[in-house]
Amino acid sequence: MAAAKVAVVGAGVIGLSTAQCIVEAWPSCSVTVLAEQFSPNTTSDVAAGMLIPHPCPGTPIHLQKQWFKETFTYLFAISSSAEASEAGIHLVSGWQVFKKTPKEEFPFWSDVVLGFRPMSKAELQKFPQHRFGQAFTTLKCDCPPYLLWLQKRLKAAGVQLYSRAVADLWELQSKYDVVVNCTGIGAQQLLGDEELCPVRGQVLKVHAPWLKNFIRDGDGSTYIYPGIHRVTLGGTREKENWSLSPDPGTTKAIFDRCCSLEPSLQGAQDMEVRVGLRPSRQSVRLQREVLSQGGVKLLVVHNYGHGAGGFSIHRGTAKEAARLVGECIAALKGSSLRAKL
Ligand code: FAD
Repeated sequence: MAAAKVAVVGAGVIGLSTAQCIVEAWPSCSVTVLAEQFSPNTTSDVAAGMLIPHPCPGTPIHLQKQWFKETFTYLFAISSSAEASEAGIHLVSGWQVFKKTPKEEFPFWSDVVLGFRPMSKAELQKFPQHRFGQAFTTLKCDCPPYLLWLQKRLKAAGVQLYSRAVADLWELQSKYDVVVNCTGIGAQQLLGDEELCPVRGQVLKVHAPWLKNFIRDGDGSTYIYPGIHRVTLGGTREKENWSLSPDPGTTKAIFDRCCSLEPSLQGAQDMEVRVGLRPSRQSVRLQREVLSQGGVKLLVVHNYGHGAGGFSIHRGTAKEAARLVGECIAALKGSSLRAKL
């Protein structure tokens, strides 16, 4: 059988990592990435890139944990390799602090991150407004370098990357055997998925090189995440807000909240403000679909709707999407759908 032609639509962390997993799992496939925007203009470029899972109510916990663990294991290996600084992946230790002791003192991911433990009294003294805390070491992706690193690896593996807006997945039917939809919030317009909604996030990127530990308010509303070069300060979660313009009032509110957690931030410099739209859904849409039009079929794999936690689970969902692509290829063999092979 000739090589199957696979188009991945989307070049955020989900599209690029899915393309990578397809290349790894099915090296004989010809893979093309098509996207309206590439780095530095995707939502994935705006993200803080911390590996801390966000609850996804419609997805069973064992799956959330599996996807997180696969992602953690994959990035942990990169963080300990010579590729780490180019890929923008590093370990970071810090504290998640709470004003009241949370119901779950040990969240489901506590045995995936490293050294998870309740904070000591001495550590809590640093946070006089908080009564309880968890200390652990996790991974952080510096997002634009990570996306560029993924693109470089894809190109080295022979994957073609093209700038192109896709108005309808059927546009791709004549040229590709399988279409993988990784369009993030773009899936709302592309497919009319009413379950998908934007959750606007505004963050500040500042120069504060003395900060080495992350600090996160337990409800996730305020966070300070040191990266390799810049510290990300957040954040906001504004449901159904499509605005990509930074709001100066929000900038001040984020900065004030972060300074109340870490007063030394008053000395931070070079503030850059970024806004992104989290592709939020009850559960990630990770499934095969066979579209049909006038007797013609199009095999599609969806992988979108990662909400506030796309970096935390991207490798796990990308592996599953690649497995589904394998099912599509198997279905193509010997079927009437294989005309293009
Ligand atoms: P995107 O990055 O938006 O990529 C979508 C791609 O599809 C783009 O290339 C786009 O151009 C393309 N596309 C869309 N429609 C079309 C079309 N019709 N035709 C062609 N191409 C199309 N997650 C974490 O795990 N940890 C964090 O610390 C974290 N922090 C965050 C902070 C903020 C402020 C925000 C906004 C998000 C954060 N996230 C975090 C969430 C994370 O950013 C998302 O879950 C993730 O980026 C989603 O990736 P994606 O590839 O699905 O979407």
